[in-house]
Amino acid sequence: MKIVYNYFGDDYMDIFCKIINGEIPSYKLYEDEIVLCFLDINPDTNGHCLIIPKKHYTDINDIDLDVLKHIFDVSKKIKKLLEDKLNIEGLTYIQNNGDVQEVKHFHLHLKPYYRNNEKKPVEEIYEILTK
Ligand code: 5GP
Repeated sequence: MKIVYNYFGDDYMDIFCKIINGEIPSYKLYEDEIVLCFLDINPDTNGHCLIIPKKHYTDINDIDLDVLKHIFDVSKKIKKLLEDKLNIEGLTYIQNNGDVQEVKHFHLHLKPYYRNNEKKPVEEIYEILTK
């Protein structure tokens, strides 16, 4: 069953709403009733991923605190996955708002840090993370 969570109006859904509704594919790492985590299509580093709420919130101003807490709980699972599979040596959390936010659907970036690391294609990283 497809669940439409995120209408602003009849004809507008942001790109992350479309990912949630399965209209646009993504490299999913984790999903539950409240959130989805998937690899960033244009990663800064290997394993750069985003955690988004399934319900539409624009940014830090309108997101519910219990959803925010859940996002951070899930981020710990993803951190462990990145450590186990990609041997990351650090992890930066980023959450943009306003003019620096490209996609107006709340998302938390998890950006791994490596002392030395050669960038690999997203498909290859997805294979490593999910095998
Ligand atoms: P922001 O600047 O809004 O915090 O970052 C948005 C992020 O979403 C960017 O890192 C960008 O690469 C990523 N992004 C934009 N469109 C898509 C998409 O269709 N799929 C995926 N997986 N990531 C996307």
